[in-house]
Amino acid sequence: MVNVREHLLALNDELRRLKAEGSRSLAVSEDNLVSLRRAVRAVTAAEPPAAALVPASETSDIAASMEADIPVAVAVAAAAPTTAARAVPRAPSTAPLPAETPVVRLPEGDKPTRWNALRDLVLSHPVCQAHVRPGKKIVLGVGSLDAGIFFCGEAPGAEEEVQGEPFVGPAGQLLTRMIQAMGLRREDVYIGNIMNWRPELPVTGNGEQYGNRPPTPEEMNFCLPFLRAQLDIVQPRIIVALGATAAGGLLGPGTFKALGEVRGRWHTFNGLPLMITYHPSYILRNQSNRSKRMIWEDLLKVMERAGLPPTEKQRNYFLG
Ligand code: URA
Repeated sequence: MVNVREHLLALNDELRRLKAEGSRSLAVSEDNLVSLRRAVRAVTAAEPPAAALVPASETSDIAASMEADIPVAVAVAAAAPTTAARAVPRAPSTAPLPAETPVVRLPEGDKPTRWNALRDLVLSHPVCQAHVRPGKKIVLGVGSLDAGIFFCGEAPGAEEEVQGEPFVGPAGQLLTRMIQAMGLRREDVYIGNIMNWRPELPVTGNGEQYGNRPPTPEEMNFCLPFLRAQLDIVQPRIIVALGATAAGGLLGPGTFKALGEVRGRWHTFNGLPLMITYHPSYILRNQSNRSKRMIWEDLLKVMERAGLPPTEKQRNYFLG
């Protein structure tokens, strides 16, 4: 285990050295990325779990939860897809989607009955099945069907398509800590994405697929009925859109140029209050108090509107 950790630290040093020398992109194959993440998980599993890093008495301490445990190796894993995506020389390939969006008809019944029917519909939908990568999973939302807060991201990534659950990779781990900082548990909220499969990857010159790309407006539009159905079942008090892609998917393409125009303010989607904030991966890339404070200010507004008045301590996180 020590060896793996040392190798990861050496890799991190090498990445920092390359960055200092001016490198801005690095191709990492999907297989290497998955092996790297496995190694990271093996190392972090041998260390105190995230919960231990955020003591039970301090679960609402965002300073602890957002800063304490982004190990160097996770930073490496988080950096890899971004840099790899930039290294891709060709435009992303997208198979055409049907013009008609799916029609979602759910049975009468309680929330679990309707949600189970929706899950069966999405997982067996021929278009979802045609686009999900071989051996990988279509991803529907998870969490409490009685949640007051519905977090909405863009699309599954490498970890999510393997596990079949949204936000389980590095950005997801940070999202979980943000939720804990709000005084909640991950299982108290609902977490979903606009799109239900990992967007087909950009293809490089030698025909290999690397990196991630955001979903296109067409892809998000196609999957929107599935998101609306989840909202209709859960009936949350508030939706929180994470990042510009999710915000664009909900507000509609071309409604804003920069996220700053729409974040931190209340909008409406499906008749529900919608708060737009940064994607957790933005914080993974910009670990400054200023960026943490910005996302936290948006979450304070969400807490107030959800009837979870922040404590004085929560209000003051990242001030000064
Ligand atoms: N980013 C997202 O937007 N969704 C996920 O599920 C994971 C990362």
